[in-house]
Amino acid sequence: MPRLAAVVCACLLAATACASSASRADRPLVRAAEGTMTSSSATSTSSSPLTTVAPTTSTAAVAPPPVPGVPGGLVTPRGIVVPVLSQTGSRSVVRTPCGAEATVVGGRSVTGATVVLDPGHGGPESGAVGPNGLTEATLNLAVTEQTRRVLQAAGVDVILTRTAEYEVSLATRTELATKLRPKAFVSIHHNSDPDGPRDGPGTETYYQIGSPTSKRLAGLIYEEVVRTLSAYQVSWVADRDAGAKYRQGEHGDYYSVLRRTAGVTSALAELAFISNPPEASMLAQPEVQRVEGDAVARGILRYLTTNDPGSGFVEPYPRPPDRSAGGSSRPCKDPPL
Ligand SMILES: [Zn+2]
Repeated sequence: MPRLAAVVCACLLAATACASSASRADRPLVRAAEGTMTSSSATSTSSSPLTTVAPTTSTAAVAPPPVPGVPGGLVTPRGIVVPVLSQTGSRSVVRTPCGAEATVVGGRSVTGATVVLDPGHGGPESGAVGPNGLTEATLNLAVTEQTRRVLQAAGVDVILTRTAEYEVSLATRTELATKLRPKAFVSIHHNSDPDGPRDGPGTETYYQIGSPTSKRLAGLIYEEVVRTLSAYQVSWVADRDAGAKYRQGEHGDYYSVLRRTAGVTSALAELAFISNPPEASMLAQPEVQRVEGDAVARGILRYLTTNDPGSGFVEPYPRPPDRSAGGSSRPCKDPPL
């Protein structure tokens, strides 16, 4: 079967989670770590044993909090959402999508949001690519926009970390989340590199270690997405430990979008496997993108409005600790602000 050969997962520095099994012990460790953004964590750990360690939390590399008197975010005149570092009149010093500082004149200040949605990857940083050419970046954005529409129709105040096809660093994504202090931050992805076939969707949701609210959010999104996708008859694939779970890294949560948002209830969702030809064909359909987005929105709404516990919780099997190539060879290019 040539299907995996056709898959390219461009998990470069800014990637978060397009292949949860990228660093599985039974295959070469060739990709940069998905979960880390800081070069300081680039230390090789190739000699580390594969052990399950007790989950621990960490405050390392947490994105900066809001600055009193400064709006957390700005929708620039060109519609790019960025964190605000300082503001004088109509001039805002902002963090660009690539993580630089820039001055923007005008735009609309955003003081906060109830929900921040994070469409994974973007632009040349495509994430996983399906055998049909569908990229995670494009698919994640389409699904996220549908989630936004449903939440906004329900009266929920929503901000997206990415609004079009451009690259956004993990630092900028998480800084926006910590400055806007939402009740829920959800990063939306599609998966690759499964363990094998499964009799149902291989959906995975990740929660922040030690956070009961994050766990509930992840469990509710898992429940809604699996219920929705189970209506489709395709040859599903999955990791053996598909479900709602955590992933331990060297410095707390493996995934940067969960680690750097400490203090904000966050979850990361791998909705289905874009690398699997039958799933990729299905995911290319706008109708399926819509129902996925609807399902994520229902999970978030239930988190906000009920005390439902969620479901699908599993204990993850041991994976190597995070490792990083320390950076991308391809420079990040900011969009016009
Ligand atoms: Zn991804």
